[in-house]
Order: sequence, then C-alpha cells, then structure tokens
Amino acid sequence: MSLENLLLDEAALAPYLTDKPSRSLTVAVRALIAQQLENWLELKQAHALLEQALFRTLPLNDLAITLQCNPGRMISARSPVDKESIRKRPCFLCLQNLPADQRALLYGDEWLILNNPAPLFPDHLVISHTGHCLQRIEPALPAMIALTRELDFSFIAFYNGPACGASAPDHLHFQMAPAGAIPLVEQIKKLMEKESSNPVLKKIEESPEGTCFTGYPDFRSVFVCKTKSPDFLQERFSRALCSLPAPVAGEEEAMVNVIIAGSSGTYYGILFPRKAHRPACYFKDDPEKMVISPGAVDVGGLLILPRREDFDRLDRETVLSIFAEVCHEMDVFEKISR
Ligand SMILES: [Zn+2]
Repeated sequence: MSLENLLLDEAALAPYLTDKPSRSLTVAVRALIAQQLENWLELKQAHALLEQALFRTLPLNDLAITLQCNPGRMISARSPVDKESIRKRPCFLCLQNLPADQRALLYGDEWLILNNPAPLFPDHLVISHTGHCLQRIEPALPAMIALTRELDFSFIAFYNGPACGASAPDHLHFQMAPAGAIPLVEQIKKLMEKESSNPVLKKIEESPEGTCFTGYPDFRSVFVCKTKSPDFLQERFSRALCSLPAPVAGEEEAMVNVIIAGSSGTYYGILFPRKAHRPACYFKDDPEKMVISPGAVDVGGLLILPRREDFDRLDRETVLSIFAEVCHEMDVFEKISR
C-alpha cells in the first residue's frame, strides 16, 4: 500500500471526529479507531473476540496482577522470533504488507499511528516507523515520551525490545494502551503517595525536576522515574539504560521493556531490564507447557494467556518463578543507585 492510500485524509476522518472545534491529535486518534472499527472487518472481529476475554486477579507477594485469557493472541504468542525465521517472513509492519483495509495517521515525519489487529485492550495502537529499520529503544524513547503528552496522557506508551516481546524485531515500533490498562502503573502511583511506608520502591534520587526509584516488586527489577520534565525523563532513562549489563552475544541492545505513562502533566516511566524472553515452561510439552510470552504488558502486571488451561491453573508460585526467570535481579541497577 502506498503511504498516500494508507493515511486517512480530513474528509475520511471528519464523520468520526467527536470534537471538531478542538481537533487535537487525541480526537483524531479516537476518530481513526472509530473509522477502523467500522471499515476493517478483521479489526471488528478481533474486538468482538477481545470482549469475550476472561480476567482474574492474582495476588503475589508485594502486588496483585491480572490474568487475561485472550485466544486472539495465540498467533503472536507462538510466533517464531529467531533471526532466520524473521528474515524469511514478509515484515507485517512494512507499508506494502499492511492489510488492505488498514488506515493510519502520520505522527511527525516518520511515525504511523495504526490499530493493533490483535488487541489486548479496546483501543490498542501500534506506532510504527515509516521505514523498515531495526527495533531499538534509543530512537523509540523520544517519540514515546512526546506522543504520550500529545495524546493528553490518555494512552500509555510501551516498548518491547527486539529479543523480549517484539513480534517485529526488525521493524522499529512501540505500542499504546489506554490509560489505566497496565496495573503496575497505577500501583506505582499509589506506592509513591505513601512513600515513607513503602518497602517496594527505594528512592535513589530526588531533585526539583523529578524523583527516581529502583525496586524489585515480585521478582521484577524496575527503574522508575516520576517527573513533569520530558528532558529529565529522557536523560534519566538514557542513564539507566547505559548502566545495564552489555547485550548478550548476537544482540545489539540490552533486553528491556519500557512503559511511559502519565497524568495531569506528570510522567511515570518504568524500565524493566530482562534476561530472557520466554520462560522454560513455554518450551516444554504438555502438560508442563504454558503458552506465556512476556512483554511489557505482562511484566507490567497484565499477564496474557492465549490458552484457557493456562489461565485456569496459573498460580502465585508459578508467576513468581516466571518473573524471576525472565526479569533481572535486584542488583541490576546498583551502578546508578550508588
Ligand atoms: Zn518492516
């Protein structure tokens, strides 16, 4: 598909604009979602499937997580992510391979705002680079920070590294979820409010510009930055990323998931260093097998399970051992916390 055909023009967007006088980017994105739900049958069907998803809350040691049974994610959870398989398949984020009815908005000169055809949330966006270039946090982070603010903090941006959750590790992209959809963001906001009695997060920096924490909630090592300044967030995240152990052989960046959220002008950034993509149980045969392929959303406390049997039997101990297996140890941020 050509870029010209892919982009929704003002005339196509107009019937779906709910607040025409303001015509903010948020209003345009809402119109894009509405247009696509009406004109892209596969997206409509995927949303209908998502409405049937089952949810269950599971308390862990420090915090609770939510399990989502979502059969629509089976293809993504089972997709091969080895370099040879990726090289051989057509890239599903490149313009020429997008579904015929998919449409987009252009953000800046080089990003496309698209609907995710296999949604985890009712309004699940993919923000994809217009060119076929490698998945990297460095070029993604400034766009994640800027777009979160431009969408009035009504969406959360999240990034899956090429070796820990991205199903297109060869094409630069990040995703967006509706505000409130990733449990750990809300939990961290609450923890920060009762700082003195909070054993889960350790404050490592407090300045007029912002506050940084490290923590290890339920075996997930995290770096957290709270600030009103996009520059402070960018700078502290860059520093935290530089402090991580060197990438494993064959990879060009340390394995990370990143979440950029916010409300009322304040950003909450969460960085999860990872040491494995899929846990050992993913590779076992039934009955020990569990189809669980954690990305930012999963380590952020919304665990996606395509199979009903995994959803029914997953317990606290198993989740904790999976987090310990795929996330980094508590001391990973020692260099920046000193
Ligand atoms: Zn591509």
